[in-house]
Amino acid sequence: MLHFHGFPRRVPKKDMAAKGKIIIDQSLCKSCELCVTVCPEQAIRIAETFNTKGYHPAEFVVELCRGCGLCATMCPEVAIEVYRG
Ligand code: SF4
Ligand code: SF4
Repeated sequence: MLHFHGFPRRVPKKDMAAKGKIIIDQSLCKSCELCVTVCPEQAIRIAETFNTKGYHPAEFVVELCRGCGLCATMCPEVAIEVYRG
Protein backbone atom coordinates (compact mmCIF):
# COMPACT_ATOMS: atom_id res chain seq x y z
CA MET A 1 0.00 0.00 0.00
CA LEU A 2 1.20 3.50 -0.82
CA HIS A 3 1.44 6.10 1.89
CA PHE A 4 1.07 9.66 0.69
CA HIS A 5 0.68 12.45 3.20
CA GLY A 6 -0.42 15.91 2.17
CA PHE A 7 -0.27 15.04 -1.53
CA PRO A 8 -2.52 17.53 -3.38
CA ARG A 9 -5.06 16.17 -5.88
CA ARG A 10 -3.81 18.55 -8.55
CA VAL A 11 -0.27 19.83 -8.55
CA PRO A 12 -0.03 23.40 -9.91
CA LYS A 13 2.89 23.82 -12.31
CA LYS A 14 4.64 26.36 -10.15
CA ASP A 15 4.76 23.85 -7.31
CA MET A 16 6.32 21.01 -9.32
CA ALA A 17 9.71 21.85 -7.86
CA ALA A 18 8.29 21.70 -4.34
CA LYS A 19 10.37 19.96 -1.75
CA GLY A 20 9.45 16.56 -0.50
CA LYS A 21 10.62 14.13 2.11
CA ILE A 22 10.65 10.38 2.35
CA ILE A 23 11.06 8.08 5.29
CA ILE A 24 12.67 4.73 4.55
CA ASP A 25 12.06 1.89 6.99
CA GLN A 26 15.55 0.48 6.63
CA SER A 27 14.64 -2.66 8.56
CA LEU A 28 12.37 -3.67 5.65
CA CYS A 29 14.83 -2.85 2.86
CA LYS A 30 16.38 -5.67 0.83
CA SER A 31 18.75 -3.45 -1.14
CA CYS A 32 17.12 -4.10 -4.51
CA GLU A 33 18.07 -0.56 -5.60
CA LEU A 34 14.81 0.02 -7.50
CA CYS A 35 14.22 3.25 -5.60
CA VAL A 36 17.76 4.42 -6.36
CA THR A 37 17.26 3.71 -10.05
CA VAL A 38 13.85 5.36 -10.35
CA CYS A 39 14.55 8.56 -8.40
CA PRO A 40 14.89 11.44 -10.90
CA GLU A 41 16.75 13.57 -8.34
CA GLN A 42 19.36 11.05 -7.14
CA ALA A 43 17.93 11.55 -3.67
CA ILE A 44 18.39 7.92 -2.60
CA ARG A 45 21.60 5.95 -2.28
CA ILE A 46 22.65 2.64 -0.80
CA ALA A 47 24.17 2.91 2.66
CA GLU A 48 27.48 1.36 3.63
CA THR A 49 25.97 0.08 6.87
CA PHE A 50 23.96 -3.16 7.22
CA ASN A 51 20.41 -3.56 8.47
CA THR A 52 19.28 -6.39 10.75
CA LYS A 53 18.63 -8.63 7.71
CA GLY A 54 22.20 -8.22 6.50
CA TYR A 55 21.41 -5.92 3.57
CA HIS A 56 22.86 -2.52 2.80
CA PRO A 57 19.66 -0.43 3.09
CA ALA A 58 18.63 2.54 0.98
CA GLU A 59 19.22 5.93 2.58
CA PHE A 60 17.75 9.34 1.84
CA VAL A 61 19.67 12.43 0.71
CA VAL A 62 17.33 15.01 2.21
CA GLU A 63 18.06 18.16 0.22
CA LEU A 64 17.45 16.63 -3.25
CA CYS A 65 13.92 15.20 -2.93
CA ARG A 66 10.95 16.86 -4.66
CA GLY A 67 8.32 14.47 -3.38
CA CYS A 68 7.35 12.83 -6.67
CA GLY A 69 6.54 9.49 -5.01
CA LEU A 70 8.15 7.24 -7.63
CA CYS A 71 10.38 5.54 -5.08
CA ALA A 72 7.44 4.52 -2.89
CA THR A 73 5.57 3.24 -5.94
CA MET A 74 8.48 1.02 -6.94
CA CYS A 75 9.55 -0.37 -3.58
CA PRO A 76 8.53 -4.06 -3.41
CA GLU A 77 8.97 -4.07 0.37
CA VAL A 78 6.70 -1.05 0.98
CA ALA A 79 9.52 0.48 2.95
CA ILE A 80 9.10 4.10 1.80
CA GLU A 81 6.62 6.79 2.88
CA VAL A 82 6.43 10.10 0.99
CA TYR A 83 5.67 13.52 2.43
CA ARG A 84 5.25 16.71 0.46
CA GLY A 85 5.49 20.38 1.30
S1 SF4 B 1 9.88 11.10 -3.72
FE1 SF4 B 1 10.76 11.25 -5.82
S2 SF4 B 1 12.44 12.74 -5.62
FE2 SF4 B 1 11.92 12.05 -3.54
S3 SF4 B 1 13.32 10.34 -3.13
FE3 SF4 B 1 11.41 9.45 -3.96
S4 SF4 B 1 11.75 9.26 -6.18
FE4 SF4 B 1 13.30 10.67 -5.36
S1 SF4 C 1 13.11 -0.15 -3.42
FE1 SF4 C 1 12.67 -0.61 -1.26
S2 SF4 C 1 13.69 -2.57 -0.87
FE2 SF4 C 1 14.54 -1.76 -2.77
S3 SF4 C 1 16.40 -0.62 -2.14
FE3 SF4 C 1 14.69 0.86 -2.18
S4 SF4 C 1 13.87 0.88 -0.06
FE4 SF4 C 1 15.12 -0.96 -0.30
